[in-house]
Amino acid sequence: MHRYSFIILATVLGLLVHLAGDALAGTAKSVGPTASAPFVVVIDPGHGGRDAGSRGALLQEKDFTLRAAKMLAALLSRRPEVKAILTREADTEMTAVQRASVANYNAAALFLTLHADASWRPGARGPAIMVAAPRRPPRVAGEPARAVAFRWQRSQNIHLASNRRFALNLQKRFAAIRAGEKPPLHILAVRDLEGARMPAAYVSLGVISTPEDEARLSEIAEEGPYLTALAGEVLRFAGLTEDLPPKPIEPAEAAPPESSQAPESSEQPESPQQPESSESQAAPSESPQPGESAPEAQNAAPAGEGR
Ligand SMILES: [Zn+2]
Repeated sequence: MHRYSFIILATVLGLLVHLAGDALAGTAKSVGPTASAPFVVVIDPGHGGRDAGSRGALLQEKDFTLRAAKMLAALLSRRPEVKAILTREADTEMTAVQRASVANYNAAALFLTLHADASWRPGARGPAIMVAAPRRPPRVAGEPARAVAFRWQRSQNIHLASNRRFALNLQKRFAAIRAGEKPPLHILAVRDLEGARMPAAYVSLGVISTPEDEARLSEIAEEGPYLTALAGEVLRFAGLTEDLPPKPIEPAEAAPPESSQAPESSEQPESPQQPESSESQAAPSESPQPGESAPEAQNAAPAGEGR
């Protein structure tokens, strides 16, 4: 009979642990983002400053990524439950550490770095997606296996499942835009992502060195298919519905034309969150390494190569 009471006790304890787990998970997740507790996504326009990134005939990657990131932030900011923060809002040079620090400092739930990489394969086109491959920490001699296992639980390693889910869904969305163009999805060492302590992805929106793609990239629009797909996947990842309210009419542009591509859009205060975000990026938690330039020269190569 003691055995029975033990079983009952164990069952009750198990149930309590289970309930406590649910309650904890509930406070963390199932409530979902709200206007007062928004889903924070940090969007990183790749390159900047002396690091121009890849080049097309006319378009430089650093300029394209800034425009695309501003548009994506504006698109997502139509939803009050989402707070989109940019790592840079001007032609600024940043290290990979600084970029990830903006995301960490703002406790982002998702970190996206945007690119438009070149390829040496003629005719290569379309977007590509990368997530960080699991990285084994170096083993110290004589270190117990438990300590090694513990050190595995770092940065991007623990987010691999979320990263893959995000990337696979985004791949599906991009594949639906143009027939026969399923973007490659790579899982490899991506330096721009490694420092981020949240799910993260590297998204190349096209091949800037291919004239056809360069033309498409230079005409990228806030409500165009690629940014809409990206925004939709961010909203899904945040556990939100995917509707995007119409673009808010800003006083400066009382009658916006239907296809406002705004090539000189860098001066327009598109995102209502910009004052806040520039303030928050002013204080990254980790000190940058000014000596380390060209954050992802190595990253650009595999993207093109994979195609
Ligand atoms: Zn790039």
